[in-house]
Amino acid sequence: MAPPAPEAPENSSHTATVAGVPVDTRHWIGGRRVASASGATFTDDSPLDGTPLAEIARGGAEEARAAVAAAREAFPGWAATPPTERARLLHAVADGVEARTEDLAAVETADNGALLRSHRRGVMPRVAHNLRYFADRLLALAHDDFETRGHTNHVSWDPAGPAVLITPWNAPLMLASWKTGPALAAGSTVVLKPSEWTPLTASLFADIAHEAGLPAGVFNVVQGYGAEAGAPLVADPGVRRISFTGSVPTARRIAATAAERLVPCSFELGGKSPLLVFADADPELAADLAVEQFDNAGQVCLAATRILVEESARDAFLGHILDRVTKLTQGDPRDEATDVGPNIHPRHVERVDGFVRRALDAGAKAVIGGGPNTALGGNYYLPTLLTDVDQDSEIVQEEVFGPVLTLQTFPDGDEDEAVRLANGTRFGLAATLATGDRERAARVSARLVAGTVWVNCFFVRDLSAPFGGSRDSGIGREGGDWSFDFYCDLKNTVTAPMGPPLLERSRELGEGRARHG
Ligand code: NAD
Repeated sequence: MAPPAPEAPENSSHTATVAGVPVDTRHWIGGRRVASASGATFTDDSPLDGTPLAEIARGGAEEARAAVAAAREAFPGWAATPPTERARLLHAVADGVEARTEDLAAVETADNGALLRSHRRGVMPRVAHNLRYFADRLLALAHDDFETRGHTNHVSWDPAGPAVLITPWNAPLMLASWKTGPALAAGSTVVLKPSEWTPLTASLFADIAHEAGLPAGVFNVVQGYGAEAGAPLVADPGVRRISFTGSVPTARRIAATAAERLVPCSFELGGKSPLLVFADADPELAADLAVEQFDNAGQVCLAATRILVEESARDAFLGHILDRVTKLTQGDPRDEATDVGPNIHPRHVERVDGFVRRALDAGAKAVIGGGPNTALGGNYYLPTLLTDVDQDSEIVQEEVFGPVLTLQTFPDGDEDEAVRLANGTRFGLAATLATGDRERAARVSARLVAGTVWVNCFFVRDLSAPFGGSRDSGIGREGGDWSFDFYCDLKNTVTAPMGPPLLERSRELGEGRARHG
């Protein structure tokens, strides 16, 4: 059945035109556009030049309560919807994402400053692919039955219930789709709370999902600040799952709230990942891997920001990096020629610069960059590489989340030291390894503490593979069946043999069990 037409905005103050695309600035709750009960809004600025893009509904406890109530009401119907129909609807949403790729890409770039060309050609197609992958995976979801003394053990994935999904600003719709896809496929309903710094594509996605025919209340969006809108969502007793991507301090707060009701949480958090470069590595490839870390202006959780290079390879490797960095173009992310765009917000740039200043004060040397790009102003920070840094220093231990790399060396042939340095932070999200020696690759990978290890590559991952972090980088894994496990309550149904002869045998087995305790 076709869904009712979306309500027309009550007045133009509820629509902002961003990059030529109209975006509704209200929440999306129970299949309706809803302004905040208080009437409050917050301003969403563009990282490109600081101009205000939109006045966004500023959600609070009331909107959180309403959204979870809508997700609860929709849950039984959605959970009972046949998997084939859920899969069909997810494919229809993916069709809508593909049809609106240009709009989504333009709005996302205006809102978070990442490159338009990667939003167009990489990110938005991947958003659609995420949805399709989980739709298809749902239909293939099966576990071989186990047989125990004639009894069949059948495992099923029962939808868990309303899930709150909280996302950061560095890859807004990508991360939202990464959670929304499996949650909806699994039969759970969703309340998405995007970052207050990047609220726009979540709103467009709500339109797309609605137009694709997703029933009211299955997918909801609450806009607002973390403390005002996120916290009451997490605390709501109707929520059965919380999936969060963001910083470690926020995860701790969410975990403390969730602990009160034992709500399962999935946490994808920060990182301080190493790039290990051995002297036997292809020097060009190793330098490419290093420079790739400036992607998205360094605002990538997986970024390998700590370069650890074998002493004898250091100078040549550094030369290759310098050569490449001088060819990078920094500027407007809408320009095809741009390689490095702005950072998200002046406050964030100040934070990034604070890390660099303190490192320089402590004796680090900036061999590349080392401060804001004053020619571009505001949010643009120069790709930066710092040498002469200590393993225990703040710049090596803390996530900067900007275009800032450090370079350390380890003695020639000393794999133990390389691994010690690589594993020597509180994080464990990813590690990248450049080596020409297959055996070394296997040996070192096995010793690294990381959810993902890349050998002579970066950022490639099949959607069926697990993704997540160890230590402070997270709890749980997303991807493939791991995502279904999270958004479902796994059930084992044990069935005794049926029919008279088998029944007899079942009784015998039962008696046998009773006799043998
Ligand atoms: P953040 O923790 O400040 O905010 C993330 C989200 O949480 C936002 O939507 C925010 O509004 C919300 N929030 C804040 N306080 C809350 C509260 N008390 N209750 C509920 N929600 C609350 O993180 P950020 O600055 O937006 O994102 C950057 C961080 O995200 C970095 O540490 C980065 O490494 C991490 N990240 C991790 C991954 C991953 O997959 N591991 C991916 C991308 C980003």
